[in-house]
Amino acid sequence: MNNVVLVTGSTSGIGLGIAREFARAGYAVGFHGLEKDGADTASSIGRQYDVPICFTGHDLANEDGVAKLVHDTEQKLGAIDILVNNAGIQHVSSIAEFDPDKWNKIIEVNLSAAFRATKLVMPGMSKKKWGRIINIASVHGLVASEFKSAYVAAKHGLLGLTKVTALEGAPFGITANAICPGYADTPLVQKQITDQAKAHGISEDDVIEKVMLIKQPIKKFVKPESIGALCVFLASGHAELITGAAIPIDGGWSAQ
Ligand code: NAD
Repeated sequence: MNNVVLVTGSTSGIGLGIAREFARAGYAVGFHGLEKDGADTASSIGRQYDVPICFTGHDLANEDGVAKLVHDTEQKLGAIDILVNNAGIQHVSSIAEFDPDKWNKIIEVNLSAAFRATKLVMPGMSKKKWGRIINIASVHGLVASEFKSAYVAAKHGLLGLTKVTALEGAPFGITANAICPGYADTPLVQKQITDQAKAHGISEDDVIEKVMLIKQPIKKFVKPESIGALCVFLASGHAELITGAAIPIDGGWSAQ
């Protein structure tokens, strides 16, 4: 029988890398995301690895969308054994100029959606006495950078949620961990490169070298599939005592 994993925001970037690694390992994968070609992306990975998949495209910026996501995924694939809260957005601005609607949306998608999905899947996991919750935070869950107030606040909050989930899940065989990547080469980061080049009046190459990777001792973007492989490990038996952890995959950024 295939264990069921739901990866939010898995039709792009890091989430896609995570979903692909779970499919490669033989899991049934619930894909989710707002990308127009999401259903095709999910089907092609399902065919490639010969595993059951489903796709949903609910907006996670509200409670109803999260409820529908969990409901529809369980209808199609069965009870969720592993939840990866990955969907996330970014907005770069000084606090003085930060649009309050953008603040609220980042908190909804990056933090509240993870809380809501966790709340919905934990009872089923508790009944089975087994479950895995993996929150894709960021190095910005551990340290700050200027102009990212909502994102840094949401990701620090996600680490707090992870720790509480670990404590409440422990008696029921549920582990909860956060992964804290440095920059990965994804559409979210591509947009930041463009925005920062405009903001600083410099080329995109200079943004990558002099702005983005300046804090990262190993000057390489993280590969989405490396984050996926770490998730598959956290779902394995070898990781049964790893819980409440915040695991950096950041080229040494947070070691400083
Ligand atoms: P991405 O933009 O490539 O993918 C984000 C996914 O989230 C997409 O599938 C998108 O459809 C989905 N999403 C966005 N808003 C949504 C909404 N309102 N409702 C439902 N789904 C929504 O981004 P990414 O770079 O792959 O980021 C994935 C996660 O990794 C995020 O939580 C991000 O904060 C985190 N992260 C990214 C980096 C990086 O450098 N890319 C570094 C550290 C952490």
